[in-house]
Amino acid sequence: MTEKNQQKIIRELRAEIERLKSLAYIDELTGSYNRRGFTEEVEKFLREVQIYRESPERRSSVLIKDLSVVLFDIDNFKKVNDTYGHDAGDAVLQYVVKTIQKRVRGIDLVARWGGEEILIALVGANEENAFEIADGIREKIAGEEMETAEGKLRVTVSGGIASCLGAEQFDKVLKRADLALYKAKESGKNRVVRANGS
Ligand code: GH3
Ligand code: MG
Ligand code: MG
Repeated sequence: MTEKNQQKIIRELRAEIERLKSLAYIDELTGSYNRRGFTEEVEKFLREVQIYRESPERRSSVLIKDLSVVLFDIDNFKKVNDTYGHDAGDAVLQYVVKTIQKRVRGIDLVARWGGEEILIALVGANEENAFEIADGIREKIAGEEMETAEGKLRVTVSGGIASCLGAEQFDKVLKRADLALYKAKESGKNRVVRANGS
């Protein structure tokens, strides 16, 4: 085989790996990460934060000192499906993810975590920074009508925020975000609640 041919095969294999990776890591409906993709990526960032918190001698080489996650859940989404149909529900999901993606940075992670739950990881953000971003997203969605084939509609989202505390496993951080989300729902929806803050 000539060297040129070998390089061509390598290029094709690389492209194929990328294609398979995106199938395994990406949610088809919204184009955001799925659970697997998000979990793999967030673990890398968490390791950085943990080194920063635990190894003073390596601090100067660590770039990421904070990480916060926000778990959003669309309010009364079942009613959207029941009233406007499942396709309109899908369009709402795409719209919410797009709105979130516009507001976060390229390095941040956005995933469809469950049916109508969207999880984001804000790299470098403490709880206060994360609240500002998440509440801005919430406000934007609440203030905007979206166009669907079934007509205009408006949705709201609730969010729960938790920041990584030292050598904490990701599932612990997520659990605290989930609890905060529960409080947001319980206290009336269309709001963002911090796991630590008031
Ligand atoms: P809450 O404000 O408490 O979150 O109420 P809710 O109605 O949003 O919550 P509930 O868990 O009762 O309903 C979630 C609905 O989301 C039910 C399910 O049919 C719908 N759903 C989940 N995944 C999808 C999807 O991919 N597309 C559409 N259109 N609907 C979905
Ligand atoms: Mg839900
Ligand atoms: Mg919901």
